[in-house]
Amino acid sequence: MSGTNKRITFARSPQGLPTLEDFGADEVAIPKPANGEFLSRSIYLSLDPYYRNVMKNSQIYQDRLAAGDVMVGETVAQIVESKHPDYKAGEYVAVRNGWQQYAVSKGDGVRRIDPAVAPISTALGVLGMPGLTGFAGTISLGEPKPGDTFVVSAATGPVGSTAGQTARLMGARVVGIAGGKEKCDYAVRELGYAACVNYKEGDLAANLKTACPNGIDVYFDNVAGDTLVAVIKNLALGARIILCGMIEAYSMDKPPAGPWLGPIVGARAIMKGLVVYDHVAMQPRLQRTVGGWIQSGQFKYREDIAEGIEKAPQAFCDLMRGKNFGKSLVRIGPDKV
Ligand code: NAP
Repeated sequence: MSGTNKRITFARSPQGLPTLEDFGADEVAIPKPANGEFLSRSIYLSLDPYYRNVMKNSQIYQDRLAAGDVMVGETVAQIVESKHPDYKAGEYVAVRNGWQQYAVSKGDGVRRIDPAVAPISTALGVLGMPGLTGFAGTISLGEPKPGDTFVVSAATGPVGSTAGQTARLMGARVVGIAGGKEKCDYAVRELGYAACVNYKEGDLAANLKTACPNGIDVYFDNVAGDTLVAVIKNLALGARIILCGMIEAYSMDKPPAGPWLGPIVGARAIMKGLVVYDHVAMQPRLQRTVGGWIQSGQFKYREDIAEGIEKAPQAFCDLMRGKNFGKSLVRIGPDKV
C-alpha cells in the first residue's frame, strides 16, 4: 500500500497539565509489513489518563518516550495487508498502533474484535481495558452486596460507568460523583444510579451524607484527592475502598498531601489496590456479561469522539482537564472503506 501516514509525536514532558506544545506532528510513508507482520489502518484511537504518566516516563509503565517518537496508545484498526499467518485483511483488531493512521504489528497483544457484539469503538471503552477495570474491580475487589451503597467517582467515564452499572446490576444502590449537572443528570437518567453528587457545587462531604444516609459500603475511587477525603468522612462499618485512579495527581509534579486515614481505622475499612492487568483472565466474562447487557438495553455507555488525528492532542488536553463526557476517542478513519 502506498501513501502517507500522519502521526502525532511526543515533544516533551508536560509541566503540570499537558498543553498542545507537548506534542508534535509529522507525515511519513505508510510502512510495509514484513513476513510475520500485518499492516492496519487505525479507526479509533483511545485517549486514556495514564498517557499523562507515560509522558513523564513513569517507571510503572513499559512504554518509554523520547522526543520525536510516535505517541503510544491503543487503537481499533482494520487490517489492510497481512503477511501474518493468524490474521487476514479486513479483520478488526484492538492493537497498539499509537497516535497514527497506519502501523505494522507482529500480533503481540492483539485482540480480535467481533463487530456483531457491539460497535467496534467499545473495544477501547466499556468492552476494553477501562471496562475491564470497572467490571473486575467491582466484582473481585468491591464485592457489593444487594442493598449496599456503592459510590463511584468519574462516574460517567468508561471505568466509572462500568463499575457503577455492574454494581447496580448486582443489586447495590449506586451513587455517582461527577463534575457538573449534565454529567449527574445523565448518571441518574441513563446509567440508573440512585443519585449523583456534583462535586463542583457545595460541600461534597455534606452532600454525600445526604445522598448516602446509611454510609458508603463500597467506594470505587477514580480520582483521589479531595474527593477521597470527602468519601472517607462518610464510610459505613466494614466499608471497602477500591483505589483505582488518581487522575488529579497525574499532572502534579509532587504527590498531593495524603488524606487523614483515621476514619479508615474507625470504620474497620479495607483499602485495596487495583491493577487491571491482574484481571485479564476476566476479559471473556466482560465481553459476555457487559456485551449481553448492552444488547438487552440494561447497560448504557457514552463516547466523546474527536474527529481526525490532528485533534488528538487537544482531545487529550481536554481529557486531563475533565472536559470529556464519556469515553474519550479520536476517529482516525471510517469504520469501513
Ligand atoms: P474518564 O472518566 O473518561 O476521564 C477522567 C475523568 O476524571 C474526567 O472526565 C473527570 O470527570 C474526572 N476528574 C475528576 N477530577 C479530575 C481532575 N482533577 N482532573 C481531570 N479529571 C478529573 O477516564 P477513565 O478512562 O474512565 O479512567 C478513570 C480513572 O481510572 C483514571 O484515574 C484512570 O487513570 C484510572 N484507571 C486505572 C486503571 C487501573 O488498572 N487501576 C485502569 C484504567 C484506568 P468528572 O468531571 O465527572 O469528575
